[in-house]
Formats: sequence, C-alpha cells, structure tokens
Amino acid sequence: MQGEDPILSRDVQYVKGVGAARAKLLYKMGLRTVRDLVQHLPRYHLDRTQFRSLREVRPGETATVEVRIQSIAEHQGRRVPVVAALITDGTAYGQAIWFGQPWIAKSLPPGTTVVLSGKVERERGQPKFVSPEWEVVQDDEAELLHAGRLVPVYPLTEGLRPREMRRLMREAVLLGAPRMPDRIPPEVARRQNLLPAPVAWQEAHWPTDRTTLEAALRTIRFEELFLLEIGLQLLKHRVQDPRHGICHQPSGRLWGAFRAALPFELTPDQERVIREIRADMESPRPMHRLLQGDVGSGKTIVAAAAMVVAVDSGYQAALMAPTEILAEQHYLGLRRLLEPLGIRPVLITSSLKRREREEALAALRHGVAQIAIGTHALLESDVVIPRLSLVVIDEQHRFGVRQRARLQAKGIEGRHPDTLVMTATPIPRTLAMTLYGDLDVSRIEQKPAGRQPVATAWRTPDQRDRVYQVLVEKFIRAGQQAYVIAPLVEESDKLEAQAATALYEELSAKYPEVRFGLLHGRMKPEEKDAVMAAFREGAIQVLVATTVVEVGVDVPNATVIIIEEADRFGLAQLHQLRGRVGRGTQRSYCVLIADPKTPEARQRMEIMQRTLSGFELAEYDLRLRGPGEFLGTQQSGWGLQFADILRDEEILAAARAEAAALARDPAALAREYPELLAEVRRRWGDRLGLALVG
Ligand code: ADP
Ligand code: MG
Repeated sequence: MQGEDPILSRDVQYVKGVGAARAKLLYKMGLRTVRDLVQHLPRYHLDRTQFRSLREVRPGETATVEVRIQSIAEHQGRRVPVVAALITDGTAYGQAIWFGQPWIAKSLPPGTTVVLSGKVERERGQPKFVSPEWEVVQDDEAELLHAGRLVPVYPLTEGLRPREMRRLMREAVLLGAPRMPDRIPPEVARRQNLLPAPVAWQEAHWPTDRTTLEAALRTIRFEELFLLEIGLQLLKHRVQDPRHGICHQPSGRLWGAFRAALPFELTPDQERVIREIRADMESPRPMHRLLQGDVGSGKTIVAAAAMVVAVDSGYQAALMAPTEILAEQHYLGLRRLLEPLGIRPVLITSSLKRREREEALAALRHGVAQIAIGTHALLESDVVIPRLSLVVIDEQHRFGVRQRARLQAKGIEGRHPDTLVMTATPIPRTLAMTLYGDLDVSRIEQKPAGRQPVATAWRTPDQRDRVYQVLVEKFIRAGQQAYVIAPLVEESDKLEAQAATALYEELSAKYPEVRFGLLHGRMKPEEKDAVMAAFREGAIQVLVATTVVEVGVDVPNATVIIIEEADRFGLAQLHQLRGRVGRGTQRSYCVLIADPKTPEARQRMEIMQRTLSGFELAEYDLRLRGPGEFLGTQQSGWGLQFADILRDEEILAAARAEAAALARDPAALAREYPELLAEVRRRWGDRLGLALVG
C-alpha cells in the first residue's frame, strides 16, 4: 500500500497561520493533518458575489458593497465596545457598526477600501451595516476571502473565529488540494463528468461559481460512495464464494412432515420467498439474504422453513433475536411446531440458570439439539454449534454487522453458513442496497389472508378515561385482549419501569374486574416469562408494558393497543408497536393518546392515522429525521463524511452501477487499480472486514 503524501499527512500546526494554540482548537474538532483540513468542507457558501452600490441597498436585505472608510471610532457601548465607521462609495454615505470587536478600528483606518457584506438597516435616511463581514481590498488585488465572492462558512469550535478559520483554510487548501489523489478510474470519471480531485477539493472550498461548486461536491460525494460500493461488491464476492459454501441436500423426510404440519396455508409471497431461500441453500454459493416484510407479514414461519431445510440436510441452525421476550416466544413457537417432527430446539439467553445453560450447550455440541434460539447470548464463545449451516437473524436492524459476523463464525471450519436476516424496517430500495449492499433481498408484500386493517385513532389526554371505558366495556368483556404502552422514557429503563408500574396500579384500581398484567425491562427474567405466558394463555387480559414488547411479540388474540403519551415515540417505534395487534382475523384498534407540543410531533400522530404502510411511514420518517434516527444507532449512515444517502440518491445509484461493473472481476481490479483497492481497504476495510480481499 502506498504511503500518504507527506504534505497531506503534515500536522496542522505547520500550516501558515495556525501555530500551536490554534492547532489545539483544530485537534479538538478532529482536524489533525493537512488532509483533514482539506476534507473539512464548508457547511455552505454565502453568496457575496453581487456588489451593490450604497444608494441601491435597501433595509432588511443582505448586501455586499465596496466602500471607503471615511472615519472610524471606538466607544464603550452599554455592554461591549462599539466600533462605528462612516463609509461611502461615491453614490451615497452610510454607516458600519461592530460590537465587541474593538480591534477593528485599528484594522480599518480612514482611507481604507473595504468590502462589506451583511444585513442592512436604515438610520437617519442612511444605510447601516450591522456587524458585517469585512475584507480590506489591497492595492495588489489579492484574492478576496471573506467578501465579494462565494464565501465558505466553516463549522467552527469555540475560540476560533470565522475569519481566522477562513484564512487558515485558504492556506491549507492551497497546500493540500493539489496533492489530493485521484482514485477514480479515468473512464469512470469521464462517464460521470467528474472533476480531477485537486480541482474538486479546491473548488469545494473556494468555488469559481455555483456551477463549479456543484460539480466539485458531486465529484467528492461520488468518490466516497464509489469506494464504499466497491467495498460492498468485494464483500459480496467474498461471502458468496462457492468454495466456502454449504450445499444443502434435504432428504425430504422432515420437509414433507413440516409442510403437512403447518397450522395455516402459506401466502403466495411466503411460498415464493421460501423457494428463493431453498434454492440459495441448495446452491454451493453461501446465501446472504435479507427478508423484508412489514410487521405481521409472517416472517417467522419462513425462518422455520429454512431451519427445517438445514436440519433435514443433517446440519444445525441458529436463530438470534434482539430481546429475551422475543427469543423465548420463538423458542416456544418453534418447539410446538418442530418437536413433533423430532427436531429439538434449545433456548440460550443470558438469564438461563447455570445447569440449564450447560445442558443446552451440551445438547448443541453433541448434535442432540439441532436448533439454537437465543439473544446476544448466542455469541458467547462457549456456545459451540459444530454443524451450524444456517444463521437466521430476526429484527436485524437491532444488530450490527459485527454481531452478524460473530454468529456466522461459529459455523463449520472453513465454511460460510447460509445467512438469512429478517427485518420489518421497510427501507427504500437504494438505501437498502447501500446498507445491505452485500445481501440479496426478498420481500413479503402481502399479509396473510383474513387480516383486517388496524384502525388507528389519535385521542387527547382529556379523552383518556373514555378510551379506557370503551376498552373495558366493548373489548375486554367480549373476551379480547389488549396492550397498554406506558410513556417512553429514553435513557432510563428505571423511570420507564416506574411509569409502567404507576399506570398498572392506576388501571387496576379503576377497573378491578379486569385482570391486568405488568411487563417491563427491570423485571427478573422468570417474572417476565410468567407474565408473557399468562398473557398468551389469556389469564392476563390487559398487558401494561414498556417498549419491551416493541418488536416481534405475537399474541393474535390481542386486538387493541393503547399507547400513552404517544408523541414521545418515533414513527418507526409506533409502527412496530401497532404491529402487535392485527395479527389475527379480528378487527384491531390502535389508540394514540397524545398532546403533542411540536408541529412535528403533531404530524407524526396525523400520519399514523392516515397510513398503515410501513413503507410510507419510513419514507416520511427518513425525510423528517434522517436515516440515522430511523435506522437506529447500529448502522446509521455508515460514517459517510461527504455524501448523504438520501440527498444523493442519484449519485449513489450511479456509483453503485460503476462499482458493480468494475468489481465484477476482483482479481482484475486488484491488478489494474491497486491504489483504488488500497484506498477502499483503508476507508472501509475495518467496517466491512475486508482484510482478506484481493
Ligand atoms: P412478523 O413478520 O412480524 O415476524 P410473524 O411471523 O410473527 O410476523 O407472524 C404474525 C402472525 O401471523 C403469527 O401469529 C403467525 O402465526 C401468523 N401467520 C403467519 N403466516 C400466516 C399465514 N400464511 N396465514 C395465517 N396466519 C399466518
Ligand atoms: Mg417477527
């Protein structure tokens, strides 16, 4: 791998105008080298290209003028020193005034020609610039930095003034931009109309005009996405290498019995997805498939089918879920379905007693149990699954790429287990392709037959009593069940548990004839199990819970969910919660109790009433809050520095297509573009685990 250019890797303190003190401030912003500075792009550019005459400028507008200082003076204002100058450009007279910057009086002695940019006010019939940006016009016509052009506005830190920052950035860019390496193959650059890297970096800071600025930003964003996409393509090649896969060859015996024992008819989508998965599993190429299906679309049975294929081929399978409640539910459901066929699943969570755990581990080790179901606890090193050929990850957006890799690594030595990851997060296609670029995607679009839409209503707190009254009289008395979700308290499961407990007590006192249950994250695992079991059996009629039931929980007889202080939840969460009902054939209801304080929160309540489509909600959420929020912390944004996968969707698609073409033959890529490959590894190797590529 080629070393970094010595100038680009030079410490910022050696840039002209920086020095030790300012360097410290820059370090604080994560800016250590000249390259870091070059890559520290302006947040935006102020347009100060249009000069106006003093006579033309109008109060309220922001204008740039070139004027001469007639006189200038400093006096002590009420709070801070004030500098006031009389200015003229020959068309009119005006004033400029600055607060708290007494040194300006000395910098702009009478007679100086200066470009001012700023907000215009009017005083005694004259234009008055309040705290304008200013730059002295030198006789030698040195380039203007702060005015009279598209002026970069940089992210700053305390102690660093905009003017200082601009001046030092000017030096850094002059020094570093010409050395920024071009990594994009020339024919790609030509097809995509990209600028050469040095020009792009120069123009991104100090643009000639708007058009060139756009081209420069497009080039920089394209490069970043292109490198990522190359990395994803290489990862895909590697994980799908047929030399490392497992060819499942089901005997057909268990498979036939499984099909015969299914408690319902599969939907056409489920059938199709199962066929896709089977084909993947029977092929020597390791499967890497994402199964997307909205909440309640019936993903679990698809996972079960895949696991049966593995076991019927003489292997073992593992299913990982993000919460204990969900893992337990999967365990119970699968045991009911599979044990009659002679397949034994075991449950592995961190709350197992030592004896239970040892028994489960031994059963897996000896192959007596063919299926391991659990939480993160599955990742621990003493969990050995010697014939593991299939990994299933439920609610995959709750896990990181690394956790997925750790479970996969438990497979047969030298083999890559087939992997199925499932999510209800209905992310738009381009985003999915980036986040899951190494995965093939299957989708379940239809819900099982007989499902009815969940009617959603937003009620205000003053209607709360009425809501509960209707719940009890119309639904609970009729034998249906319900969830009541306590207010979300982020960052504190203790407060959240308290809120749930208070709500439980309040409702139990008000409606003594109803059997309430309480479920929150602070309860002991066996208490949680007991409550969930009682709710499943109907012994508990109304389950008062925190967000511990947010994902996966499946009790089809529950037809109502009431969400307290619903405005505290994000759309993705509300949608998941609403997905707890509408899982059977009875009509279901979701009531949001909320008194939203912001227009944005009000919009969330409204859109929840308007649509049931997870897709629509996701798109809305993405626009409202950005991908990070929507997808959760695990995989937000990929740490992209310049590109934004939403805003730059078009660039992303282009970068992806170019990368796919180039990486079709990884060996040729390594031969022809070793530096490009080195850069991909440097930037993404760690995240994608690309150390072995090449
Ligand atoms: P999710 O996709 O949210 O994980 P589940 O797999 O939990 O959904 O399925 C939701 C409910 O629908 C479960 O009660 C499941 O048994 C039921 N179900 C799944 N597929 C069908 C089907 N084809 N017909 C009827 N019910 C189904
Ligand atoms: Mg599920």
